Amino acid sequence: MYDKNNIFAKILRKEIPCNKIYENEASLFFYDINPQAKIHVLGIPKIECSDFYDFVRLADKKTLSSFFESVSLVIKKLNIEKNGYRIISNSGSHGGQEVPHFHIHILAGEKIGSLR
Ligand code: AMP
Repeated sequence: MYDKNNIFAKILRKEIPCNKIYENEASLFFYDINPQAKIHVLGIPKIECSDFYDFVRLADKKTLSSFFESVSLVIKKLNIEKNGYRIISNSGSHGGQEVPHFHIHILAGEKIGSLR
């Protein structure tokens, strides 16, 4: 069950601000408030979905492709396509997800440490 009061839902409703890098009709990209790398951007779709599984289940094909095309566009905008980056999506308690609205992290700008 989607929690309409999660912080990203509030950002989408413009109840709280974010440091936006890109937005279109399907998604919003903004800087993480607590960056774990020199560049740390979050990307969220605008539909109500709790995690990756939920997003793929609920979104139509146009929304799905639009979201991932936007990820690519943001990578280009950040100028990180050559040096590289890491994309992460935490899901559920085992995945360490804190905010229950599907999101991806884009980490870049320096060498990102090993996964563990
Ligand atoms: P996760 O653990 O994958 O759910 O990540 C949630 C992320 O959201 C964390 O990296 C937080 O630093 C970030 N975050 C929480 N609140 C905000 C906010 N108001 N603006 C930007 N990033 C946020």
